[in-house]
Amino acid sequence: MALREVWDSDNLPTMRNVVILGATGSIGRSARSVARAMPERMRIVGMSAHSNADALAEAAMEFPEARTVVSGGDGGAERLVELATMPEADLVLVAIVGTAGLQPALAAIEAGKDLAVASKEILVMAGEAVMEAARRKGVNILPVDSEHSAIFQCLGGRDASAVRRLILTCSGGPFRQTPASQLAAVTPEMALRHPTWSMGPKITIDSATMMNKALELIEARWLFDVGIDRIDVVVHPQSIVHSMVEFVDHSILAQLGESDMCLPIQCAVTWPKRLPNAMRPLDFARLGKLDFEAPRCADFPALDLARLAGDQGGALPAVLNAANEVAVEAFLAGHLPFPGIWRVVEGVMDACPRVEHPTLEELLAADAEARRLAAGLVG
Ligand code: NAD
Ligand code: MG
Repeated sequence: MALREVWDSDNLPTMRNVVILGATGSIGRSARSVARAMPERMRIVGMSAHSNADALAEAAMEFPEARTVVSGGDGGAERLVELATMPEADLVLVAIVGTAGLQPALAAIEAGKDLAVASKEILVMAGEAVMEAARRKGVNILPVDSEHSAIFQCLGGRDASAVRRLILTCSGGPFRQTPASQLAAVTPEMALRHPTWSMGPKITIDSATMMNKALELIEARWLFDVGIDRIDVVVHPQSIVHSMVEFVDHSILAQLGESDMCLPIQCAVTWPKRLPNAMRPLDFARLGKLDFEAPRCADFPALDLARLAGDQGGALPAVLNAANEVAVEAFLAGHLPFPGIWRVVEGVMDACPRVEHPTLEELLAADAEARRLAAGLVG
């Protein structure tokens, strides 16, 4: 990614014409409030929803200029690609849960659009292809995931050669202190109660299993071109330090702020400029202290699974992600116990054939095969 060139450029656009894929979700709603707060910098030109046409219609009342697309049903995938490549757009925010955003994201890159990526699943599945396409087309990949936005901000345009390690922070989720013996009794209702962030159901369950941090390890590996052995995870229950970069000289920069996804979204839209907003300032005296502790890798095996997938590479990250999507759905539907999510992911990773240097077609095939195997293990 030619970050430095853009960082130093003086010809910065003042207005961004933005397409939001997944405009009715948690990130989509935050993105709309950013647009509402800075109409002189962000114009929404397109919005999609998968099935909630009412919510999309309501959003369209506020942004009547935006083209809208319902992506569920026949031809939905093509409609998403059309929206992501519409000529008026210059930035596409991918805020679709799961991997359905991959094809429209790749199409947007090919059409020369910058990408703001909330959808970590597409980078886990095909991060190498996404980053390679972005390099080839000279477009920017702007992270929206709060940890990756934090790292992006700390890097300030420096590349991986300046980095000793990346340190991802992690809230620890609702079961940070729950004994391992009690995890089998966790219900969806319990797992949906996140201590610090309000998010869609899939990522909230991922946060409870630590699979969210696992996906984020792989996401960071591709976004910043830093090997997974140089990415650490530290639990930080207050979710104030959003992540850190340790440079080769052992100096560490951290990015801090309230837990509000509007900030990383705003950063992606105004980057590399900073704009004032109406957010609540951090009050350090009120916070008192910030805590850090080691993740419980033995009780929450997701991080080890991600390191295995990241080390082996090939299609294994795509397999991990696909199996997890199926397992989370099964857990939410009451068909799988909470620790079953890890068991299904591990079982599918063991069973899937290894693919070296997969093409996009092979990744899609591995994703489909992993979903089939996972459904078998769930059933
Ligand atoms: P959500 O469930 O609240 O919303 C998902 C959006 O995607 C909705 O607009 C829905 O209509 C659309 N969608 C769902 N399935 C689709 C499909 N098959 N095809 C097309 N569109 C579909 O999810 P969210 O919490 O907003 O998360 C979205 C993405 O952002 C996820 O990848 C998540 O990991 C990532 N993310 C979210 C947060 C957060 O605070 N919510 C933080 C960091 C990263
Ligand atoms: Mg995150």
